[in-house]
Amino acid sequence: MLTNRKHLTQCLSCDSPKIKYVIEDRAYIKDGKKIVIPKVPHEKCFSCGERFFGPESYEVIEPYQEKHRCKKRKAVI
Ligand SMILES: [Zn+2]
Repeated sequence: MLTNRKHLTQCLSCDSPKIKYVIEDRAYIKDGKKIVIPKVPHEKCFSCGERFFGPESYEVIEPYQEKHRCKKRKAVI
């Protein structure tokens, strides 16, 4: 259970209370390629359409970004 994060009750963009926690696929374009990340939890404002991503969103997003990162780019010091 995700209990240690406060969910938004109001849109940070338009102050509408019509904000809801949703789990939806997110698509974005990276290096000209479309990457779809399934089941990203985030909050969505049904008034202005703005989406807000929290730490649990990035827990899902980050492994995908790692996977799609061009080759190994680990810093060698
Ligand atoms: Zn809004």
